[in-house]
Amino acid sequence: MMTAEVKTACPYCGVGCGVIASVADDGAVSVKGDPDHPANFGRLCSKGSALAETLDLDGRLLYPEISPSPLPSPREERGEGGIGVASHLSSSVPGSKEMATISMSPSPRVRGEGKGEGQARHSNRATWDEALDLVARKFSEAIAEHGPDSVAFYVSGQLLTEDYYAANKLMKGFIGTANIDTNSRLCMASSVAGHRRAFGSDTVPGVYEDLEEADLIILTGSNLAWCHPVLYQRIASAKEKRPAMKIVVIDPRRTMTCDIADMHLSVRPDGDVALFNGLLAHLARSPAMDDDFIRDHTNGFAEALAAAQKGEAETHALTGLSIEEIIAFYRLFETTQKVVTCYSQGVNQSSSGTDKVNAIINCHLATGRIGRPGMGPFSLTGQPNAMGGREVGGLANMLAAHMEIEKPEHRERVQRFWNAPAIAQKPGLKAVDMFKAVADGRIKALWIMGTNPVVSMPDADSVAEAIRNCPFVVVSDIMRDTDTTQYAHVLLPAAGWGEKDGTVTNSERRISRQRPFLPLPGEARGDWRIICDVAKRMGFGEAFAFENPAQIFAEHAALSGFENGGERDFDIGDYARISDAVYETLKPFQWPATARGTPLWLASHLPHKGGDQAFIDAGPKSQALKGKHQHLRQPISPLVGEMPGRAEGGASRFFANGRFYTPDHKARFIAVRAMATERVHAAYPLVLNTGRIRDQWHTMTRTAKSARLSAHLAEPFAEINPADARALGAGDATLIRIASPHGKIVVRALITARQPRSSIFVPIHWTDQFASNARVDVLVPSITDSVSGQPALKHVGVSVEPY
Ligand code: SF4
Repeated sequence: MMTAEVKTACPYCGVGCGVIASVADDGAVSVKGDPDHPANFGRLCSKGSALAETLDLDGRLLYPEISPSPLPSPREERGEGGIGVASHLSSSVPGSKEMATISMSPSPRVRGEGKGEGQARHSNRATWDEALDLVARKFSEAIAEHGPDSVAFYVSGQLLTEDYYAANKLMKGFIGTANIDTNSRLCMASSVAGHRRAFGSDTVPGVYEDLEEADLIILTGSNLAWCHPVLYQRIASAKEKRPAMKIVVIDPRRTMTCDIADMHLSVRPDGDVALFNGLLAHLARSPAMDDDFIRDHTNGFAEALAAAQKGEAETHALTGLSIEEIIAFYRLFETTQKVVTCYSQGVNQSSSGTDKVNAIINCHLATGRIGRPGMGPFSLTGQPNAMGGREVGGLANMLAAHMEIEKPEHRERVQRFWNAPAIAQKPGLKAVDMFKAVADGRIKALWIMGTNPVVSMPDADSVAEAIRNCPFVVVSDIMRDTDTTQYAHVLLPAAGWGEKDGTVTNSERRISRQRPFLPLPGEARGDWRIICDVAKRMGFGEAFAFENPAQIFAEHAALSGFENGGERDFDIGDYARISDAVYETLKPFQWPATARGTPLWLASHLPHKGGDQAFIDAGPKSQALKGKHQHLRQPISPLVGEMPGRAEGGASRFFANGRFYTPDHKARFIAVRAMATERVHAAYPLVLNTGRIRDQWHTMTRTAKSARLSAHLAEPFAEINPADARALGAGDATLIRIASPHGKIVVRALITARQPRSSIFVPIHWTDQFASNARVDVLVPSITDSVSGQPALKHVGVSVEPY
């Protein structure tokens, strides 16, 4: 017999699918897709459908621990003998498989079933009071002795918005430094920077329905089939119904996403700026230009076009594409009105990531194809709550509610709202710089929450050494033994998926509840509560007297609407009055969600009480969607009144009363220059690209628990072109050593023509826990985009040899 079903959200990628979880009397959990959730309408991918298989307590951190002496770092401990092969696995690497059709059958794995109670063997167990007192004391001492900039939080897109809000409030408003950054820095910081440069705000102008309504979808730097599988399924299904829809994939690799592509452009690594600059120069000579839109709603076109034209002759050389391919792509863009350009880590994780984002946005501004049904640039976030973290100021260069740390009036407003004793006066350390500051001793106390930087940061061995040598390290996590927890002085057991309570925001600005359906195991606590418990011990009790996540959400909502008046894009101010009961039953909704000041270019995409007005520019396809997504036209909440209507009169007047969040309310073209990025030379002649695989998530602490997920690709590997493998003398599934000036790894060769010549691809997931010497980020230098601070994780010069 099943208990009541609980509606929650998947904890993996930024698609943000709705999940229905049920717990049987015997404790068995089953999950299925939520047919009512507007992100997935019942679909789940392989990872989402296996969630129930990942909920046992094996390896869980169940009690606080205080450790007198963390372990030696990998460089101190590691010899040369290890290889990146999981010893319990077969010696062959399974080839890539087609994307499976995933059923939503229950998965009756009993929670707690398995090898044991993980943490029982460890002897440093402490009480919560002992652990929290120590954390508060060490942070307070560091601040008193060395100032607020001597402490740092490194948080995660796995945190819920309420957790993020509490952490950001404590650091920026009460400790008084902005040294809080997030692993989302590795994921979408370039998109944030690009949005802010172009729109004056970190606004994603699109929604998922645009993907179904577009006539041309460009997927650049995105293996959607593996990294955002349900969105891929939605697009594949739309294309099946409407074969005239065209799909272009821009990616050096021929990924699984190319299976639905009409055109695959195997662009050179970091050739994207050249490609989109060339497109802008081409469009300027075509009838596709929207001169009225450029004149009325933008600035900077002439400069951006001049920069694009200056480099146009080099497009072929910098992209590595043939003239025929380039022209075919440009003509397709030129002649198709409804175009959505989706971009993800292949764009963001680059030393020119922000310029790539703006090169893409420039083309949409030039054609007025933005904020209208079936059109727009669309950043796809990697993590489940990267967007929620941005909303509450989880990035070191932002304040809460998308306010800007550089603006004195924003700092003053946030400080006044919080009644805070201090407010950070300048941007804090971004992730890469934060760990450099840990390494050189500037950071005396570091709190890592829900992430594993010893695996995921570039130059990972240096990061491990830095953490190992930091005077005081706290790690909150759900797992006892990760590559990072071993260096912690204090371990704090956090709640995991199924136990956590709060909200997340997906790539289309949709806020959904993550609800608990399992009891907290051992002594685990929600991250928000742990942070508040430390804040109280540091003397900030009154500001952190939250009793539940609903109260934090209400305060977050109130801050978003505080003295806003339409000045800022993120506004959910009408939810400031939310009661615990309404929070409990909150349905997914998109921001901005207020009756005040919503810009019309966003209002077009909002669920709208006025219904028909929300589709005023839509053609017949949208009329059909209207029926399908009838529920989207309902009021978003009983707390929220009518949304403002949008300008009547069709597409040409769509922006007539609209505005962007720049001082003059006009969008900005950004002049960007395409440059050759050379990372290879004689000693390191191959380009290393890193990324995700279909069935694992981040550093595998959850997905590796599922046998069927692990069966997809069971060992760390490197995809390599057959010609390169032949030249190296490497056979399929033989071991190869990959080296850079920063480190080396040993993995198996997976020989495939999908991988272009002179390059290899290695997944990011494997850690020392699962296979020795396979952490690919030990190879990656800490080069970052100068605007966003996002590391360049996909373009590294390496050497390869048989092992
Ligand atoms: Fe979860 Fe993403 Fe898969 Fe949806 S697409 S089920 S959010 S991993």
